[in-house]
Amino acid sequence: MSFAPGILQGKSAIVTGGATGIGSFIVRKLGTLGAKVGIVSRKQENLLKAVKDFKEEDGIDVAWRTGDVRDPDGIKKAFDELAGEIGGIDILVCNAAGNFICPTEELSWNGWRTVIEIDLNGTFNCCQAALLHLKAATDGGRVISISTTQADFGWPGAAHAGAAKSGIQNLMKTLAAEWGQYGIRANWISPGPIEGTEGVDRLIIQQGLGDQVKKNIPLGTFGEGDDIANAVVFLSSDTGKYVSGAGLAVDGASQWNRQR
Ligand code: NAP
Repeated sequence: MSFAPGILQGKSAIVTGGATGIGSFIVRKLGTLGAKVGIVSRKQENLLKAVKDFKEEDGIDVAWRTGDVRDPDGIKKAFDELAGEIGGIDILVCNAAGNFICPTEELSWNGWRTVIEIDLNGTFNCCQAALLHLKAATDGGRVISISTTQADFGWPGAAHAGAAKSGIQNLMKTLAAEWGQYGIRANWISPGPIEGTEGVDRLIIQQGLGDQVKKNIPLGTFGEGDDIANAVVFLSSDTGKYVSGAGLAVDGASQWNRQR
């Protein structure tokens, strides 16, 4: 089951952190459905490898720029250049993030600040940098931020990421309210654990928590990158045209066990 071929023809999308993990699934999906896509992250070697793979494995040309989402001026420059190359920005996917596990009583100011700067401030910087282009989008711009199910609960060992992702969710609600007048929709997706990603490998599998986490997912499995990519297509195409300021959990109902 898939979306109609060409459903995103004529659209241009930027995906931050699009060279790896969930971001790369989003890029492949948007690109194969017809969108022109640009990716931004810090490491040129990641970007070059991904662009080569996208071309060889999916037949899509993906534009790229190096950039750090913590640097507002650098991100603005990268977005403006990419917009020139891919024909504007109709869809912005704020996916770039960093995280590490550390109990709060041992968390340094620098560790806290770094995750808040990448996840929360970085999302703000990207939204600001894309605004003029999103305003100019023919059918209205779309902002989709990648949050996490964990943001709706306390997140022991990841106070920094939990606070940042909760902040992102509130930012999306505010942008939906403020930028609705420009036809811009702002939403977020909350993935549960997605198999084959660096995040799940490092934060769950390597901590020996794989079986325990799966047991607490009512659907009984980790998600796939395509599950998140499909949700991005729903929110960025006309299928989701009246959805704004909303969160879409794509997590096999993982949050259910947290609510009991
Ligand atoms: P990932 O592969 O580590 O992706 C993170 C990406 O962000 C990388 O491509 C990285 O590229 C980029 N990035 C990090 N810091 C950056 C910065 N300062 N400026 C620009 N780019 C930066 O991790 P992932 O697991 O796919 O996660 C993707 C998103 O899904 C994140 O928002 C994460 O919180 C969310 N999420 C993931 C899961 C999961 O199961 N994996 C679950 C819930 C939510 P460079 O190193 O080249 O900068």
